[in-house]
Amino acid sequence: MIEAIVLGAAQDAGLPQAGCGCDRCRAAQADPTRRQYVVCLGIIDHAIGSTWMIDATPDFREQLVLLQQAAPECKLAGILLTHAHMGHYTGLIHLGREAWNTQRLPVYATPRMCAFLMRNQPWQQLAKFGNIALRLSPPNRPIALSPSLTVTPIAVPHRDEWSDTMAFRVDGPARSLFFCPDIDDWDRWDHSLPDMLADVDVALLDGAFFSQAEIPGRDISEIPHPLATDTTERAAGADCDVRLIHLNHTNPLWDDSMERAWVTERGVGVGATGDRWQLS
Ligand SMILES: [Zn+2]
Ligand SMILES: [Zn+2]
Ligand SMILES: [Zn+2]
Repeated sequence: MIEAIVLGAAQDAGLPQAGCGCDRCRAAQADPTRRQYVVCLGIIDHAIGSTWMIDATPDFREQLVLLQQAAPECKLAGILLTHAHMGHYTGLIHLGREAWNTQRLPVYATPRMCAFLMRNQPWQQLAKFGNIALRLSPPNRPIALSPSLTVTPIAVPHRDEWSDTMAFRVDGPARSLFFCPDIDDWDRWDHSLPDMLADVDVALLDGAFFSQAEIPGRDISEIPHPLATDTTERAAGADCDVRLIHLNHTNPLWDDSMERAWVTERGVGVGATGDRWQLS
């Protein structure tokens, strides 16, 4: 049996965000059950006893435990990386000598992302000491993780200062999932969102901000994301289980809010840690 499980649904900085005194972050500081991990997808192949993570987040330690609890008979067999922003790869730090000290754990990334890791410490040292084994994984080339599980990186437009940015399509024997935590603009993508939603069973899509009003004092052109309202309108009516992920700490979709009701009325869900699907 192949499964996918959400191990976190927050934007790179998590919730509570460091240094933030907003009501939602303060509530999460006071009550750890309200804490939200950074977005991460676990994939499980029970038949061969292996698990994978898409992205290594700042919450890697806790998310590894969640994945082990979800599949106690399985072992982590690799990590696939979307891009070089802080929420998506810095958890690799836990694989080094000061920590887990893994032995040649496969890390799948595009040539540009691999070059970034090999150019910069402490990531270079992880490869040099053999904690990780980088697997060059260009866009659009399917990666056969097991006989019944294929994962394909798909390039998406994003602020690509240090690396390019991938979404991933995960294909099990019977069902498929599309995981896209970060994208600047659906219209600048060289794929069609409706076509993708028609072709997969589950889609986890960037819903970082509900409205521009959430980040006063920040120029949204410096941190572009499609607004959750835009993504919801594009996904409404799709024959696909669509859920918004990568939510910023400011996003009212975290709460039982009018905004959340607006999204769910249109048939779109909000991703949550523990959401789980069989892909076989
Ligand atoms: Zn991100
Ligand atoms: Zn906050
Ligand atoms: Zn990003």
